[in-house]
Amino acid sequence: MKIAVPKEIKNHEYRVALTPSGVRELTGRGHQVVVQAGAGEGAGFPDADYEAAGATLEANLATLWQNAELIIKVKEPQPEEVERLSPDQILFTYLHLAAEESLTQGLINSGATCIAYETITGAGGGLPLLAPMSAVAGRMAVQAGAHSLEKAQGGAGILLPGVPGVAPAKVTVIGGGVVGENAARMALGLGAEVTILDKSLARLEALDHRYQGRIKAVYSTADTLDEAVRESDLIIGAVLVPGAAAPKLISRAQLAEMKPGSVLVDVAIDQGGCFETSHATTHAAPTYAVDGVVHYCVANMPGAVARTSTQALTNATLPFVMALADKGWKQALADDPHFLAGLNVHAGQVTYPAVAKAFGLES
Ligand code: NAD
Repeated sequence: MKIAVPKEIKNHEYRVALTPSGVRELTGRGHQVVVQAGAGEGAGFPDADYEAAGATLEANLATLWQNAELIIKVKEPQPEEVERLSPDQILFTYLHLAAEESLTQGLINSGATCIAYETITGAGGGLPLLAPMSAVAGRMAVQAGAHSLEKAQGGAGILLPGVPGVAPAKVTVIGGGVVGENAARMALGLGAEVTILDKSLARLEALDHRYQGRIKAVYSTADTLDEAVRESDLIIGAVLVPGAAAPKLISRAQLAEMKPGSVLVDVAIDQGGCFETSHATTHAAPTYAVDGVVHYCVANMPGAVARTSTQALTNATLPFVMALADKGWKQALADDPHFLAGLNVHAGQVTYPAVAKAFGLES
């Protein structure tokens, strides 16, 4: 199959859909991979590495898109990319259509077969193509929080692990899913005192079992949240209610009870944020303070570590890309109901129920 990998054009997006190793796996199976010249630069993968892996480089965008049977990307297609799609093509990327009516309409009009990373399900539950980016964001949340606790960043001037004779910092993670567990692991590894609050007893049981008491796994209530607010040096918001905006779990009034210079990292900001005082920030200006509490609310955290994120994304997407390339989309989706859950738009129809419902397009 002819597979195209365009350079991402969304503002400040440095990831690329395929690493050179991923290309090698596909060319080794007899597929033809065409990579836009410079596509991997932002993630530290030079053109020469793609060529060495068997890809062809293409500088002309029109040629790259026109000749492809399968186009793989990272971010949702931008308007000029949607215009390039044709009915016989397959697009495989993050789409997040339920919040994007004009993009949905554009993909309907294109006639293309559009498969979204984020709605593919896992045999053991979960969303396997979202999980790697959640893992990245969870781990980064602790780095960002530790940095924000430094005095020069407006923080309280606290070192997460303390030193012999000085107690470690208290870190509370609200939401013990993929982001939360990865954040907790990092904080634990750095020597902080870590508590996870979650509403799911099953999650708390699993975390308690896995960490054998080294992380406190506590049921989330107004009381336990109050205690976290009063005592934590760093709070990481990592809740998710699927299909809904994040619940606001810490109010502005509660900030007055926090220690001066303590830090809130709101990873759930891409779902509206779980602290009342959160608003989305960028990597260029990631933090701001409200009532002496530092807020870090970057909506695309994985973009800052484009190389790691690109590698993690390719690891998760490659088996699906190989199935599409080897079998064609019809057979690949027919063989795997979890992959079929990724189909969002086909031949001018929205095929994903939640997206169709969002825009009144149910048949
Ligand atoms: P997940 O589904 O794996 O985990 C969410 C957890 O939150 C679950 O364990 C759930 O029980 C818990 N939860 C739900 N409501 C709660 C409440 N009221 N109190 C306590 N716990 C509650 O989700 P995830 O993959 O860990 O993602 C978490 C959030 O991080 C999502 O909003 C996701 O979109 C976001 N995210 C952001 C970035 C970024 O760059 N900012 C990157 C990746 C993920």
